Amino acid sequence: MNHTFYEKGRNLPILDKVDVVVVGGGPAGLIAAIASARNKASTLLIERFGFLGGMAATGLPLHAFIAADGTRVIKGIPQEVVDRLIRNKGSPGHMPGKIVSKTMRGSTAPIDPEVFKQVALEMLEEANSKILLYTLAVDGIVQRNIVKGVILENKSGRQAVLAKVVIDASGDGDIAARCGASFEKGRKEDGLMQPPSLMFTLANVDTEKSDSFPKDKLFQLTKEANQKGELPAPVNQLWYFTIQKGVVAVNGTRVNRIDGTQALDLTQAEIELRKQIPKVVSFLKRYVSGFESSVLVGTGPIIGVRETRRIIGEYVLTGEDVLQARQFEDQIAKSGYFLDIHNPNGAGVQRAYIKGGASYGIPYRCLIPKKIDNLVVAGRCISTTFEAHASTRVMGPCMAIGQAAGTAAALAVREGVPPRKLEAEKLRQTLLEQGAIV
Ligand SMILES: Cc1cc2nc3c(=O)[nH]c(=O)nc-3n(C[C@H](O)[C@H](O)[C@H](O)COP(=O)(O)OP(=O)(O)OC[C@H]3O[C@@H](n4cnc5c(N)ncnc54)[C@H](O)[C@@H]3O)c2cc1C
Repeated sequence: MNHTFYEKGRNLPILDKVDVVVVGGGPAGLIAAIASARNKASTLLIERFGFLGGMAATGLPLHAFIAADGTRVIKGIPQEVVDRLIRNKGSPGHMPGKIVSKTMRGSTAPIDPEVFKQVALEMLEEANSKILLYTLAVDGIVQRNIVKGVILENKSGRQAVLAKVVIDASGDGDIAARCGASFEKGRKEDGLMQPPSLMFTLANVDTEKSDSFPKDKLFQLTKEANQKGELPAPVNQLWYFTIQKGVVAVNGTRVNRIDGTQALDLTQAEIELRKQIPKVVSFLKRYVSGFESSVLVGTGPIIGVRETRRIIGEYVLTGEDVLQARQFEDQIAKSGYFLDIHNPNGAGVQRAYIKGGASYGIPYRCLIPKKIDNLVVAGRCISTTFEAHASTRVMGPCMAIGQAAGTAAALAVREGVPPRKLEAEKLRQTLLEQGAIV
């Protein structure tokens, strides 16, 4: 570390100089870093935790590789991850029509989060991407609206990394926001966002019995328990099957009016959600057959934040684009997931389905923030409305967007142009050649 970067009155050590920095090692960032490195850009992935996977590391299943009409919409590197999970006994693969109920058709792939963490590291190493764990990216280095790198903090102190392109895959758009990109949060009318939840796992469940428990009865029971203050919200889907026998992942906690970009809100949510867990457990044990002898064996490493910043890009994908299954000339990925809005102000989930169970396209322009150059966004924070976000946010689309972001960054570096100027058709062709569906 011979060089330093001058920041606000002090010199920071320059940890590295690379072509592409990816901030965040969740489903989007992981795939972005693999794609960037495979396309011969020197790549560094920065992750605040000691493990990779983001929300995939909490044991959630990967939704939406297959649309409701049965069409395959996601392949490429995301599918390579699933294939490797299958080989390592970390997933049975996609289970078409199995998302939740008949009306929520599509696909879901249950995963073992521990195998996912391992596969993520392996694939990054094989692609020759550098990895920096235990490191929070805290700021962007921006000169005249051009991003030149990121500032980070970790046990070694504050440092700089210089890069030709920065990909913000932090879920929250942390770095894009710090670089000055415009963003929106929540619903148009009141800015409220979907509520966070804390996932937990129960073992010793008789899943044959629990799986055949009638959904309408469960909904009625949860409604009554909610009215009595025993449960946070009425729901008809409280748990997901996992790949371990007798173990289910429970998604039954929630707290409204939380802004996941505010540490005080996150703290309040963590405390409240932890208080809800024993209530959900005792509800299940008391009312739902199969759960009588269940035991709590784990809680998510972090609360699950469904929604925060949506960075405003060159195009803003709308709910109508999703529902009408619109296609775009510059689309770099597809998604067949419906609008899945957890009520930001009370109980319940609002859903709307894509015309004909088909899929819509995600334009490259949604990954390119307005005005700021050499910055690409990927995953949950891409440019959408509140409604469209409720579809693009699940892991299948986030992974596919990640492949497009990483490939775009590497091609832009190779051609010596900012990602905004990269020809979308060239990107689409490269993605197709590399196995993705566009
Ligand atoms: C409760 C809940 C249930 C869900 N259920 C499902 C489901 O069943 N199936 C499904 O497909 N999707 C589900 N989703 C949606 C999905 O999990 C997320 O929207 C998706 O993981 C987003 O991917 P991402 O890579 O954009 O962000 P994330 O998964 O959030 O990953 C972001 C990564 O960036 C890291 N990071 C953040 N900020 C920084 C920073 N400043 N510096 C360094 N690192 C940083 C984080 O630690 C994390 O690893 C659910 C979401 C929630 C909250």
